[in-house]
Amino acid sequence: MKELTYFNGEFVEPGAKCVSLDDRGYTFGDGVYEVTRVHEGRCFAFSYHQDRLYRSMREMDIPVRMPPDDFQELHEIIIEQSGITEGYIYVQITRGVSPRHHAYDRSKLEPQFLMSIHPVDMDEVNRLADGVKAITLPDERWARVDIKTLNLVPNVLAQTKAEKKGAYAAIYLRDGICTEGSTSNVFVVKDGIIYTHPADHFILKGITRQMVVTKVAPSLGITVLEKEFDKEFLANADEIFFSDTIGGVIPVTTLDRQPVGDGKPGKVSQRLADGYNKVLDEGLA
Ligand code: PMP
Repeated sequence: MKELTYFNGEFVEPGAKCVSLDDRGYTFGDGVYEVTRVHEGRCFAFSYHQDRLYRSMREMDIPVRMPPDDFQELHEIIIEQSGITEGYIYVQITRGVSPRHHAYDRSKLEPQFLMSIHPVDMDEVNRLADGVKAITLPDERWARVDIKTLNLVPNVLAQTKAEKKGAYAAIYLRDGICTEGSTSNVFVVKDGIIYTHPADHFILKGITRQMVVTKVAPSLGITVLEKEFDKEFLANADEIFFSDTIGGVIPVTTLDRQPVGDGKPGKVSQRLADGYNKVLDEGLA
């Protein structure tokens, strides 16, 4: 089992020095990325991740050079050659290489393609089921976080603050409204109903969130409302949970050092976590 890196058409050493200093990803964070879970040696929900990546590229006016079939095949090749069965694939596409100037000329740029595969520590993932801490922080990101761009500075700062406090992630508040986490989507359970921020420009439309909303909750007969809620609603939740590609459905047991509910993973969160793991085991194209 080994980590592999692929850059612009060839496998290179992980961390190899092959990126131009004029790459707009390096100078401006001008690019997009995607993270897909590998489970039992297969990509989970590949088509969802591919669609989201292509959407991010369209929104950013970055042309798609690789045909969808080749893109999928490359995922299969990198999994096979790495021997990684539980992990994730990172894909990054920057706008291209040109002397530093804010405005770009699409006709003169060739997007730069990076892909890498990494194992996940399943013991660490399984431990998340015991519940995690979260802290609230102001959402200081730009107003198009639905695009998965490389510009992650506010997330980097928020996540570092969160981890310094022993939290899994921060929960963002924008003008008093709870949007999402620094690396995950956020759900609240109140009186048996689950609430999550609508998938507009203020959150990333997480694939795990999408699984919870469209597959897992309906299969368990649990109502989901995609509706805004504020800090007070969050603080008075019966349960809170995060969702993301690596961790799945993750119960939050402490919010800003206060216990959520009785301070143990909530029943609804646990049912959804089990339901999500079932979908993951069944696999999805
Ligand atoms: N929101 C943010 C800000 C994220 O970075 C992520 C991904 N880590 C998510 C939500 C969850 O998205 P997904 O379920 O597709 O991993």
